[in-house]
Amino acid sequence: MTSNVQSAEVTAPKLLINGEVVTTARRREVINPATGDAFTAVPDATPADLDNAVAAARRAFTGWSKTSLQGRQMAVQRMVAVIRENLDELSLLVTLEQGKPLAKARGEIESGLRYCEAYAQMQIPVEVVRDDATERTEIRRAPLGVVGAITAWNYPILLALWKIAPGLVAGNTIIVKPSPLTPVATMRLAELLHDVFPVGVFQVVSGGDDIGPALTSHRGINKISFTGSVATGKAIMASAAGTLKRLTLELGGNDAGIVLDDADPASIAADLYWGGLSNCGQVCAGLKRLYVPKRLADQVSDALAAVAATVRVGNGLEDGVDMGPIQNEAQLNRVNSLVESSLARGAREIFRGEAPSGPGYFHPVTLVRADDESLPIVEQEQFGPVLPIIAYDDLDDAIARANASDLGLGASVWSPDEARAIDVAERLEAGSVWVNQHPAMSPDTPFGGVKQSGLGVESSLHGLLAYTDITVLRIKH
Ligand code: NAD
Repeated sequence: MTSNVQSAEVTAPKLLINGEVVTTARRREVINPATGDAFTAVPDATPADLDNAVAAARRAFTGWSKTSLQGRQMAVQRMVAVIRENLDELSLLVTLEQGKPLAKARGEIESGLRYCEAYAQMQIPVEVVRDDATERTEIRRAPLGVVGAITAWNYPILLALWKIAPGLVAGNTIIVKPSPLTPVATMRLAELLHDVFPVGVFQVVSGGDDIGPALTSHRGINKISFTGSVATGKAIMASAAGTLKRLTLELGGNDAGIVLDDADPASIAADLYWGGLSNCGQVCAGLKRLYVPKRLADQVSDALAAVAATVRVGNGLEDGVDMGPIQNEAQLNRVNSLVESSLARGAREIFRGEAPSGPGYFHPVTLVRADDESLPIVEQEQFGPVLPIIAYDDLDDAIARANASDLGLGASVWSPDEARAIDVAERLEAGSVWVNQHPAMSPDTPFGGVKQSGLGVESSLHGLLAYTDITVLRIKH
């Protein structure tokens, strides 16, 4: 077996607050999920460190918010250039801490940079609603102050860039709190960008369970942009209420895809497969429940199994690996338990691939037939390399079953007949509905959930304006 990086030497990033290195009493070991061993240890900030970061961010806000939009966008362009120069190192760190194959880690960061570049071009509109002999009225957009950005462990850098770029372009300063499971690449980003932004404009504070709540209740923070689970999103909303913070919540999904009876299983199988199981199934808007007409259920299952059989699972640093491990042991145990309890209650395993036995957190690609929504693997977001295939008799019934969820992040419809597919798409309750693809995201299109999948959107001008408040200037002549 060849390896891209046989022995990855990692220098632990430092904690930078107010532009200075901070020594902490605690350090946090970070596990490589492909080996189960710690590969580095990072400084663990305390709530007192966070207070200092917030104070620095507030001081920096005065100058940064007065910097012209163009000036802020030029700084974001410089950030993009610095990240590009350090792409190899950052990709390696993402693979080491997150587990995904090195090429996918690179793809994650490059994708994030495309969003940054789009924000670096956007104009923030001033709307003139009246301009006559007696009065001029303008609707303007003002930055909010200090943003607290909290990210999940599935796409550490992409999720951070989705928040850093619009937050800064809109004129805010920002403090990113990465997941304690994947803090390394994000902390390294702060080191690399040390000279790009004025002191206090962009900081990363990584720590334990006390840092998140300290951030969301902090009086010096004006907005929280959060990506993570529904349960944490609700806790954040409650915690942020005391200071009436603005919130963007990108939460979990249990996305349904509905294959229509005129679809050709062989031609859609690869897209269905990667719609569900890219990033080892750890995608918020991944396909997590696949509804298939009973007549096609065996054909679709066989076509998916044929794709699954080609997927090589292993350490993301090795050449030729398509899928890495699950990011952490608790999540591996959760996925195992969802599969086992569902099989015990009547789900049928139709494919189980090969995966290293450990000590890393590997899980084989698993396809199950599960024709009952009450089975745990259908009812709950699995967030792992497992896809339940659910046969349906009646399309109206399938739509009702797809919508019978508290979540509504994405959904998809699969058919060569676009008009028919659109008709079904219009009946699905989700923030994004895709036809013949799942998911599809781009910097010009908002992304967010309905129902309990979230609040607000990221990406596009809508995502940028979410980092502003509307203010009115009304002039009597
Ligand atoms: P999580 O909610 O456990 O943790 C996310 C982040 O919140 C971490 O940084 C964590 O330290 C922090 N956190 C935990 N408790 C907190 C609290 N009380 N106050 C403030 N911060 C707190 O989620 P996870 O397990 O890291 O990520 C997986 C989940 O994220 C899945 O449900 C997935 O669907 C969701 N997700 C959603 C999107 C999206 O864009 N909608 C994208 C990626 C992941």
